[in-house]
Amino acid sequence: MATQRLDTLTVERWARLWEDVRRCELRRGAWYPVLSIAPDEAVLVVRGRGVIIPLAYLEITHTRPDRWTYIARERYAVCPNCAERVAVGQLPARMRCGKCSGVFGIEPAQQAVATA
Ligand SMILES: [Zn+2]
Repeated sequence: MATQRLDTLTVERWARLWEDVRRCELRRGAWYPVLSIAPDEAVLVVRGRGVIIPLAYLEITHTRPDRWTYIARERYAVCPNCAERVAVGQLPARMRCGKCSGVFGIEPAQQAVATA
């Protein structure tokens, strides 16, 4: 795995931390590509390297995330493409990312805390 080019992998799953989980290597609200999933843990690609995270901490999706994650408590949104963090006051319907220039809708707040 160490020799695999992480940036060229075709990823079919993405994961992010549940809103109440805090782990310093992962940015809250950001989606990370999933390299592999074991019964109780997953390997995510974090800044170009594989990081093992317990499955219990993760929300996993099979569709490429295309909406900003909105962290209502701290009033910021996280870009689904590049994980840029943007402070938001009034929520627009769509928002452009200043870092990657992507334009995405915003995830409804209640969805961010729903349990799969
Ligand atoms: Zn972005």
